[in-house]
Amino acid sequence: MILGPRLRSAKHPAGPAASNRVVRSQDRADHLRRARAAAQVIRTALPGVGHVRIALSFEDQSSISPTAQVHVLYPPARAFFTYPCPHSDCDGEFELDRAVRMAVNDSTRTAHGSVPCSGARVGEPGSKRPCELRLIYDITAAPDNGA
Ligand SMILES: [Zn+2]
Repeated sequence: MILGPRLRSAKHPAGPAASNRVVRSQDRADHLRRARAAAQVIRTALPGVGHVRIALSFEDQSSISPTAQVHVLYPPARAFFTYPCPHSDCDGEFELDRAVRMAVNDSTRTAHGSVPCSGARVGEPGSKRPCELRLIYDITAAPDNGA
């Protein structure tokens, strides 16, 4: 009599929340993949650029900061600079397109800055809280010396 309800409530939080999260992050990955496939290649979108180096680091006040990332993109790669928030339970994205163009157009060929995540994270079952992650970017758009 007592075990029944306790078992149900113990099973509830992990089950549906976990499967929703998987579906959601798959949706997000699909949408980013489609957007990437639709983007121009760097050779066309950013003529004269040899490679773009995008270093990302993260600061989070409320949880462990995710590992830093470095992306190096060459002319045949898609000029697509949107990165998902590294917290797997967050729906936020960082759009660095403008920052990359700033680096391309700047005489130093670099752009630095930081941007807060605008996404929401799954907190207690059924509730969300704003993500407190801050992305710090360091972008270099190296000129194409080979051409
Ligand atoms: Zn986030």
